[in-house]
Amino acid sequence: MSRSERRARRQAQPAKDDKTATSGTPRRTVPALLVSLVVLSTILAGALLVLRPASPGQERSIDALVADAVAKRVKTARLLDEDARVTGTVAIGEERARKFWTAYPRSDAATNDLLKTLLSSRAKVTVDAQGDKTAVRFLAQFLLPIVILANLLALIFALSSPSRGGGASDFLQFGRIGDKREKKADKARTTFADLAAAEEAVVELSEVRDYLADPRAFEHMGARPPKGVLLVGPPGCGKTLLARAVAGEADANFYSLSASEFVESLVGVGAARVRDLFRQARATAPSIIFIDELDAAGRQRGAGVGGGHDEREQTLNEMLVQMDGFAPTEGVVVLAATNRLDILDPALLRAGRFDRHITVDRPDLDGRLAILRLHARGSRLADPENDLPRIARRSPGFTGADLANVVNEAALLAVRSRASAVDYVHLEEAVDRVLSGPKRRAHLISAEEKRRIAHHEAGHAVVAAALGQAATIQKVSVVARGSGIGHLAILGEDKSILTRPDMEAQIAIAMAGIAVEEMVFGHPSTGSEGDLGRATQTARDMAGRFGMSTRLGRMRLLHEQREVFLGRDYLSTRDVSQPTMEHLDLEIRRILDEQEARAREIVVSNRTALEALASALATRETLEGPELSELLESVQPLIEVLANGAARSPSAKKAAARTPSAGRRTPE
Ligand code: ADP
Ligand code: ZN
Repeated sequence: MSRSERRARRQAQPAKDDKTATSGTPRRTVPALLVSLVVLSTILAGALLVLRPASPGQERSIDALVADAVAKRVKTARLLDEDARVTGTVAIGEERARKFWTAYPRSDAATNDLLKTLLSSRAKVTVDAQGDKTAVRFLAQFLLPIVILANLLALIFALSSPSRGGGASDFLQFGRIGDKREKKADKARTTFADLAAAEEAVVELSEVRDYLADPRAFEHMGARPPKGVLLVGPPGCGKTLLARAVAGEADANFYSLSASEFVESLVGVGAARVRDLFRQARATAPSIIFIDELDAAGRQRGAGVGGGHDEREQTLNEMLVQMDGFAPTEGVVVLAATNRLDILDPALLRAGRFDRHITVDRPDLDGRLAILRLHARGSRLADPENDLPRIARRSPGFTGADLANVVNEAALLAVRSRASAVDYVHLEEAVDRVLSGPKRRAHLISAEEKRRIAHHEAGHAVVAAALGQAATIQKVSVVARGSGIGHLAILGEDKSILTRPDMEAQIAIAMAGIAVEEMVFGHPSTGSEGDLGRATQTARDMAGRFGMSTRLGRMRLLHEQREVFLGRDYLSTRDVSQPTMEHLDLEIRRILDEQEARAREIVVSNRTALEALASALATRETLEGPELSELLESVQPLIEVLANGAARSPSAKKAAARTPSAGRRTPE
């Protein structure tokens, strides 16, 4: 086996596997059960051998024996009570005698008759009650079979339990989670050096590492250390890897568990498991508890439907109780991963729980290159300096896990084709394989699509800049985030209220994407669903909740309501008449149309700046910092005349136009 193949084999083990390998219980019980089964069977066989009735000499029927006895030919007879047999010697002719054995019916009457007959003959009769054999028989026929059967059942349970700890093992474990710890010496420690393109997350998590490495320093300072950190991002972007790296860096114990394990199969087990997990982690501090798929357990309470609902609530409550329960100085930090921040129960996100969020996103071009380089370290690449950047450009939308897979697939392909090194052809083929692989949903975007997305995102940025928000735009990217097509990150500002211009600006920025797509490509695409959703919601709030529509007047029409299926939403109440609601719809329409027109006006008059930004985005994928500010500098601010005759220009009202919640509500 060549070096690269061995390496490839090693990599081919999915990363998730080693998490479950540590759960241990079935792995240790199965051999133990097998050994005891063999030992018990041997004892049983031995006992059965001992129990074999004595059968020396020739068998004689009971009638023949009685006839012999009557004829006084029987010389000796030994009655074995337990075996229900007679053994002895019978005379043949004058001199010779022969050994015999005879089985008789196991009934008192039969035994007595036979005994009488034998005694009345001249034979020397002895009776053996065989007391020791009775004990052995009890063992062999009663005790051993039961023990062996129980053993067999246990073995079946142990074998049928999936290593995830569910299924039949639940009955045996009853809420115990087994030892989920990863022993420090078990494997080479994961460190931050095993990660690429995750600098921001690493900076954020360094504090957790510092705390775990020396909890007392925090206590000394009176600082409140982080208790819970939420890693938010699509699967395969390295959340588990990050958590493990923090543990490795701080030399802490690492407990990992998927939240879906809490809630599966048995009612009441979830909460018990949570308790058990926290108990173990506290006993072995410093430790990290990593909960994968937090959304499986932490969905908004009251928003669940169906049977699993109560169980999930119990589990969630237990998790909250446990997180509140440990003192900040105990040296336990809970890291959790989720892809759906929006559906998590607000109680989980409160201060002292998962109050810190770190976004772990799909990497951009530079990030992909760094990850490819990292994973290609051990592979024999023909020309890494040229090939890897090309592959990075070919793989927008790929996650870290996808890229690791590309390197591995390429190595396997090289081995298969007996090449001396992995070259570009292998890498390219590997990209296609990863793309069309059955489970991979990473979407590769064509050049044409990329151009459209670049224009769409550039439109958001240009409108934001024209409305005086150039300084707050942190990043524009064509790399998808969540369900959107690209993203625009706007720096949030700590503001507790929004003015009408703030909200109008939000709507205009959201509408910019679809406006640009229509202007440049002639027709809109499906990429604007999220934008429209947000814009509509904001317009609805303006008119229905905040009295910002002059036509509807100052009146609150919508009230918060919790819907079973949809989570929370603002709905009209019965106090509002139907015609008024129709007016509300018209007002929403008017606000949206107005803001779309405003966005259109901006992008039309800034076409040059838009094209420059879009083409830069199409090649660089992500723009930020000075590079971005420079491109946005040429955007002309929008100057409008207000109703009171004053000119409204962004420079005059710069502060007011900033959107505080934009950090969360980013246009796509
Ligand atoms: P998640 O927990 O987000 O689903 P994982 O942490 O399980 O993702 O990542 C799976 C694998 O993908 C990792 O074991 C690693 O090989 C690779 N990977 C993901 N992100 C990165 C990264 N930023 N740098 C290096 N490798 C990465
Ligand atoms: Zn958009």
